[in-house]
Amino acid sequence: MREQIIEKIQQSGVVGAGGAGLPTHVKATANVDTVLVNGASCEPLLMSDPYLMEAEIDTVIRGLDAVLDCTGASKGIICLKGKHKEALATVQQAVSKDTSGRLAVYELKDFYPAGDEQVLVHEVLGKTVPERGIPLQVGAVVSNVESLYNIAHAMEGKPVTHRYLTVSGDIQNPMVLKVPVGTLVSDVLAFAGGPTIPEYRVVDGGPMMGRVLADTDQPITKTTSGLLVLPPDHTVVAGKIMAPEKIRRITNTICCQCTRCTDLCPRNLMGHSLHPHKLMRVLDSQVLESAIAREALLCSECGICEKFACPMMVSPREVNAQIKKVLMSEGVTWEASGAPLKSHPFRSTRAVPTSRLIQRLNLAKYNGHAGYGGEMSCTRVVLPLGQHIGAPALCSVSVGDKVSQGDLIGEIPEGAMGARVHASIGGVVEAIEDGKVTISA
Ligand code: SF4
Ligand code: SF4
Repeated sequence: MREQIIEKIQQSGVVGAGGAGLPTHVKATANVDTVLVNGASCEPLLMSDPYLMEAEIDTVIRGLDAVLDCTGASKGIICLKGKHKEALATVQQAVSKDTSGRLAVYELKDFYPAGDEQVLVHEVLGKTVPERGIPLQVGAVVSNVESLYNIAHAMEGKPVTHRYLTVSGDIQNPMVLKVPVGTLVSDVLAFAGGPTIPEYRVVDGGPMMGRVLADTDQPITKTTSGLLVLPPDHTVVAGKIMAPEKIRRITNTICCQCTRCTDLCPRNLMGHSLHPHKLMRVLDSQVLESAIAREALLCSECGICEKFACPMMVSPREVNAQIKKVLMSEGVTWEASGAPLKSHPFRSTRAVPTSRLIQRLNLAKYNGHAGYGGEMSCTRVVLPLGQHIGAPALCSVSVGDKVSQGDLIGEIPEGAMGARVHASIGGVVEAIEDGKVTISA
């Protein structure tokens, strides 16, 4: 049964919908005690996970059951914030009907980053994932809500062809909607009524960890959780488009060593050896020799230091990302001291409330419940063969081929870690270029 579940997940091309897109069949091979359902939806403004828990809880639970069967876990805990009242009530009711005794609900407080896997494990299970480690090391697997929804469909032989996402910001009709994977961002914005401002930039993902798109001629992928339309000079956009060298120069010059970034760093508060204020003093020439520099490998790039903690408006997150890049390119790894990890006594009081973060990010005017806008259809999709961690899929169609929705168009390379890609609409393969397959209806 376990092998069958893993095979169905692999065949359907399920990847982690909440993060970088780890192929889910890889995660499903774990043996653990507990599966945590990550419904924290901790990035401000993103609402598709609460929507799915409210509207599709039975499907999500079917996916959870499959993962419990597969991993041998005895407990599946659905974690979501109390502020999502309707979703919470729906989940509680569904779990109360469970007769297996395996399911439970955990009501999270409203702080950022409650949805960080390591923070979630610490919060719910009281266990600390080792530095540079994964939840598996403390007997847990964390699954995103939409991943479980996709797993439930995989059990019925249905591949991943659609994605739920939030459209918010300066847009006519902010909404949660369901779109075929590969739909262009410009088409999604048009479906939501179009931007309400003449000049804008689009953030792919949440305001904290999302990235600013170069243009709107980009496809929605299996990991696109949201599109935020914001003015080009908005606080959220400005920090993301500044040249990395400029950020590094400003940071090195302005940092006053107040230590506030370290005081509020979620990884430091869990007991990990990460001190962003010290990393601000690491010069470029010292990166490979300095023991302090290696701490950058522990940074999750959550952005609390940059977007909330620092009174000088500089970016420890970006400095860490740059140092990490250098270290990883040279194959430098983290060596833990072996000392027990002790969380900070003020950890809970230093958690950053989402409401304050939204104010700090100047997003209050966009904060509201984005209602469901329906399922979008489209006549042209552009499907990247690499939408996941691992090797890009190998194209299995040719220009001119006719495909139906759900047909395989990209296979996992022999012996590699990867994920399959399927046609999200029916039509004709119009082009195959730059690792992308274009299908026209
Ligand atoms: S981005 Fe900043 S706050 Fe977040 S883990 Fe890294 S150093 Fe800590
Ligand atoms: S919070 Fe800002 S100014 Fe203070 S130590 Fe950190 S980077 Fe420097």
